[in-house]
Amino acid sequence: MNIFYYDIAVSIPLRQCFTYKFDTKIKKGTRVAVPFGKRVLVGVIVRNIQKPDALDSKSTIKSILNIQDSETVFEKPLFDSIIWASEYYQHPIGEVFNTFIPTELRKVDKKTIKPIGGHSEYTVKESDKKFELTLDQESAVKKLSKVKTFSPSLLYGVTGSGKTEVYLRLAEQCLKEDKSLLILVPEINLTPQLFSRFEDRFNGDIGLYHSRQTSVRRLKTWLKAKFGEIRIVIGTRSSVLMPLKNIGLIIIDEEHDQSFRQSEGFKFSARDLAIKRSQLENIPIVLGSATPSLQTLKLVREKKFTQVDILSRVDGRKPPKLITLDINNSPLTGGMALETIDAIEATIKKGNQVLVFINRRGFAPLFECGGCGWIADCHACDTNLVFHQSRDRLICHRCESAYKVTSNCPKCSSRDLHMHGAGTERVEEVLENTFIDTPVIRVDQDSTKKVGAMEAIVEKIHSSDSAILVGTQMLAKGHDFPKVTLSVILNADNGLVSPEINALEKLSQLLIQVSGRAGRNNNLAKVIIQTRYPDDINLNEIKSGDYLSFASQSLDKNFKMNHPPFSSICLLRCSSPTQKSNSVFLEKTIKILSNKPGVSAIGPLPSLISKSKGNYRHHVYIQATKKTFLNKVLKFLVIEFDKWPESKKVKWSFDIDPVDIN
Ligand SMILES: [Zn+2]
Ligand SMILES: [Zn+2]
Repeated sequence: MNIFYYDIAVSIPLRQCFTYKFDTKIKKGTRVAVPFGKRVLVGVIVRNIQKPDALDSKSTIKSILNIQDSETVFEKPLFDSIIWASEYYQHPIGEVFNTFIPTELRKVDKKTIKPIGGHSEYTVKESDKKFELTLDQESAVKKLSKVKTFSPSLLYGVTGSGKTEVYLRLAEQCLKEDKSLLILVPEINLTPQLFSRFEDRFNGDIGLYHSRQTSVRRLKTWLKAKFGEIRIVIGTRSSVLMPLKNIGLIIIDEEHDQSFRQSEGFKFSARDLAIKRSQLENIPIVLGSATPSLQTLKLVREKKFTQVDILSRVDGRKPPKLITLDINNSPLTGGMALETIDAIEATIKKGNQVLVFINRRGFAPLFECGGCGWIADCHACDTNLVFHQSRDRLICHRCESAYKVTSNCPKCSSRDLHMHGAGTERVEEVLENTFIDTPVIRVDQDSTKKVGAMEAIVEKIHSSDSAILVGTQMLAKGHDFPKVTLSVILNADNGLVSPEINALEKLSQLLIQVSGRAGRNNNLAKVIIQTRYPDDINLNEIKSGDYLSFASQSLDKNFKMNHPPFSSICLLRCSSPTQKSNSVFLEKTIKILSNKPGVSAIGPLPSLISKSKGNYRHHVYIQATKKTFLNKVLKFLVIEFDKWPESKKVKWSFDIDPVDIN
């Protein structure tokens, strides 16, 4: 009897495969059940290996229990994408596989991979093509549909230029060639509107895939895609490796959006993984944005990406004007200056809508004692508690712990307790009290928690006449609000003075995106940016509204300073119940990195939120001139850490190409 040996990826947090044997040949990428300790787990065959001599004599190698499916989970290009991701992000391979296997298939002997049945035929509903394409749209479609192999394109379309229509035409082309396509959006909240645009355009099933669906529902979409029963899938980052049969195109909408980055567990960028996938599949990929990331613009400069522009708006109007309002000598009510409130009043008097943007949810971000200066903070994290009026609680935005509001200071017993600052709830309250007859609609994480809540809010906004929308980032993303003719940005200064990675890139994208939400049907739209730094050079450059010019200058600066995207960065994150364990581990790391060529390490530094859920958090900032250097050094570190007793006392992780240092 023949015995075959396999390296198998099992979903446990170890950076290795495990060897098992079996009496038949099994294809790479197949799911199998394996004994693991006292449990039986699902594993994926990674490779067929030679008989391992040392171990086998004692026959300690266990046997695979059974093969779960007659089909593989992932065909070659997807399988290779997973291997790449595990290597690039230095993350345990079993966990990477598990990230992209539908939940229902992560359990032993439960579901099998087989067709569902019901083949979708796609036809175009010509009646949906209501408008003629603009010249820019037409030329973009022409250029992009010529690309048939791996060759990434940036679709730079100013807000309101009709990028979605270009996507629809490319989809039509793709379906005509009997191929399938994947469209990625950064947020679940953005899926309904894109989904309905595709449903309006095509007869045939459109697949939807995101984490707020049931696991059974997601499995169904995944299986239908795998067996070619559906050929269009719209989804968030978890769908980046959707096994679409005969895939011919990937579209990434709002490619600059930080939400493509998963920041918990397996930290990866769905945008970057999608690009890798399209390379391995040898298919075109289109990255759309009105505010492309510096990383993408760098690749355009290097001629690795092609830039296709849509510079004219569908309605032919000019972009909104951005105006700064100096608030240094203005008293603020609910974060708003008097001039701001006057401008809001003038706008709603004309029957138009106003969008008020504040990057902070809750009511008041500070709860402070006038007697001794005590500030309410979370016991488990080093963050100030935010008062939420709707729940009558002080909430930690880090761990979501809720605390009762006390009437006496816990330190000095004074009753002189005050709320300071403004969040969305406070702005909402002030506006409601000021403009009694005008609906004030709040859009933030708290008001959109329930399934369907966001759709209901968008519907309410569209059906209202004059109204005031108050919200966080959510309002800045993708949605069109044609009746908005004034946008107000209350706390842009946070972005100007922030120590965060790419703070300015994020701020410029935010300001341009917020201004893009406004007044699509109106020529008089304007954006007021309240600021204490009206002379700031960067702010004035962004204010000009020329995003590409600002981004180009930022690229020049980053190039001179060797900052990303011109260098590669990894945050070695570390957390433990004591500060000492962190510093001992990280200092030892710094020491062994000091003689590595092409790599520099800074730290240990406390993270921006230096305590979270009871653990102290520190990091070391590792920078390398090349991705390959960084990868080599990280591999070396993994081997070292395995040997160190110091690493057993902490929880460490790599955050490669990080987007924040929180
Ligand atoms: Zn006090
Ligand atoms: Zn907390």
